[in-house]
Amino acid sequence: MLPYGRQSVDDADVEAVVAALRSDWLTTGPAVDEFERAISTHVGGAAAVSVTSGTAALHVAYAAAGIGAGDEVVTTPLTFVATAAAAALHGATVVFADVEADTGNLDVEAARAAMTDRTRVVAAVDYAGLPASPDAFASLAHEHGALFLEDAAHSIGSLWDGRPVGSFADLTTLSFFPTKNLTTAEGGAVVTADAALERRARGFKNHGLVRERDRQRFPDEGPWHQEVHEFGLNYRLPDVLAALGTSQLRRLAAFRTRRAEIHARYDEGLRDLEGVLTPARRAQAEPAWHLYPLRVLDGRRRDVFEQLRADGIGVQVNYIPAYWHPVFADLGYRRGMCPNAEAYYEQEISLPLFPDLTDAQVDQVVDAVRRAVTGR
Ligand SMILES: *Cc1c(COP(=O)(O)O)cnc(C)c1O
Repeated sequence: MLPYGRQSVDDADVEAVVAALRSDWLTTGPAVDEFERAISTHVGGAAAVSVTSGTAALHVAYAAAGIGAGDEVVTTPLTFVATAAAAALHGATVVFADVEADTGNLDVEAARAAMTDRTRVVAAVDYAGLPASPDAFASLAHEHGALFLEDAAHSIGSLWDGRPVGSFADLTTLSFFPTKNLTTAEGGAVVTADAALERRARGFKNHGLVRERDRQRFPDEGPWHQEVHEFGLNYRLPDVLAALGTSQLRRLAAFRTRRAEIHARYDEGLRDLEGVLTPARRAQAEPAWHLYPLRVLDGRRRDVFEQLRADGIGVQVNYIPAYWHPVFADLGYRRGMCPNAEAYYEQEISLPLFPDLTDAQVDQVVDAVRRAVTGR
């Protein structure tokens, strides 16, 4: 089965991991600092706080934002459930606003209509790698005294108006899962240019431990002393994985180029096919495409999906609207509330897209899609 996503690990990546394994530090060592500096450079200078997954990045980012019971987070339903779940775990109320019908990205006007005086965070997702109008969301959030969180699990390496993802939002979260644009096996990061948000993020990912003497309540306890002021967890990314990340970051520009070539080849092969829609784009964006979300019209998505799987093409669907999950349904969220997201979901199939996919494999997928859609 041709997978829909797959890591690209080369000899330099392997050597970097081996070197970290042989070093004095398996975790909390210099490879972590080096990876965080490298991410920071790639996103235009904001600080990067590495964590153990994209989900941990969201949990940490919402903690840094200080959300809790009574606060509202406005977000998109067309995402992996973690974008919403991590906010709910802090006790906040998740408010879903609808997406743009063409891109699947959170709609600025729908989000504006969902804002209240309890909104503390607007969380947009760069669906498929296409940045979700980051300057518009930053303005919207700030007009309401809220923070803009950009879930960039799909979009590290993407540019908007020539500027890198990670340079727009108050808090940007990244995922380094193997199918994403670069990998540390499991891993993620929170990016922020705000020193106070960074400090809170670093606290939450490390048990809330306070080590700086001038911030401690009982500094004279002894030289061993560290104290907890707010609860936190352990989301520390080990050096062994951070070393892989630094090596992968060197390849990010090449990954973006190859992902764009594959995306263009799918567009070329499928544009004229009746019964499907190829992905929409925006003139300001130069995406590092994570997904190729094809839309199959006329209620034929499931049929086409099953035929592609039977043909050995490992297609996926991204995503079931987050509030369709029983955990949200049980809280009273009802189907029908975001019609664009539901329509998008009902048509969507993600075709295989990863840097090592060959042109011949892309053409094989195109042929299989054409056969499945036309029935010939
Ligand atoms: C992958 C993903 C996450 C979670 O990242 P993990 O590293 O798998 O925990 C969050 N949000 C979106 C949009 C994702 O695609």
